[in-house]
Amino acid sequence: MLIGIDIGGTSTKIGLVDSGKVVASKRIPTSGHADEFAFADALAEAARQLTTDNGQLATAIGIGAPNANQLTGIIEMAPNLPWKNDIPLAQMVQERTGIRSVLGNDANAAALGEWRYGAGQGLNDLLLVTLGTGVGSGFIVNGQLVLGNAGNAGELGHMTIVIDGRDCTCGRKGCLEAYMSIRGLRRTYLELDGDPEVLKEEGVHCIAKAAEAGDAAALQTFRHAARWLGVGLANAVAVTGPARVVLFGGIARSGDLLMMPLQERFQEFLLNIYHGRVDLVTSALPEDDAAILGAAALTTM
Ligand SMILES: [Zn+2]
Repeated sequence: MLIGIDIGGTSTKIGLVDSGKVVASKRIPTSGHADEFAFADALAEAARQLTTDNGQLATAIGIGAPNANQLTGIIEMAPNLPWKNDIPLAQMVQERTGIRSVLGNDANAAALGEWRYGAGQGLNDLLLVTLGTGVGSGFIVNGQLVLGNAGNAGELGHMTIVIDGRDCTCGRKGCLEAYMSIRGLRRTYLELDGDPEVLKEEGVHCIAKAAEAGDAAALQTFRHAARWLGVGLANAVAVTGPARVVLFGGIARSGDLLMMPLQERFQEFLLNIYHGRVDLVTSALPEDDAAILGAAALTTM
């Protein structure tokens, strides 16, 4: 029995995981705690309640968070979390629960979750790309998660895709994230003279809805997105040679609107030697449980 904790900007999900299934879960707010110590107390208490209520013992706790470094167990100045200093959260949770605790970044957690329990099972080489508020990635190469020399490998979202392109949140220009994040897609829609009324709803589902109703700018938004993402993924394949690329997150759930043009573009940009050796799919994990499963999978490394 494992515990998976997914720390998001607004809420934190804690789940009990048995054989690749979330058997019980709860949610606490991420902000509003006096400080990081109070937050760690709340996490430990939630973990204790989950195990007691279900009469289970957990053998390990995996925590997925933005800007988390798996090598050090520290959350490093995450811009979307309430604490701006470095938080050694793995150690803090382990001290409070007495259970071995592992911390990793949310994209790596998603990659491990997909590898252990989802669309990547049985593969030695996998690339997972998360499309949401940001664009993240996790690489499994030769049966191992790639961490890099400082623990922060796999930042596909900040690969330059357009030289001198759009401003990115990282302070540079033209990153994949500036085009493929939720904000990026909404910006593309406006640049294509889309109807600002459509964007009164948050997220990208509103653009997908408009596209399904025949809105030309909305359809074009997905075609442009497919072009940027297609080249980014094909470039990444050329580096690690995965057998499968898995797309994860809200935008990946736009269905054929994105996947049809994307499959085409991906094949077009792909180097010949990879044709027929890599496929491109969307996550096979249930949407609500995927992040908890991924966090739990961090403990299996
Ligand atoms: Zn960037």
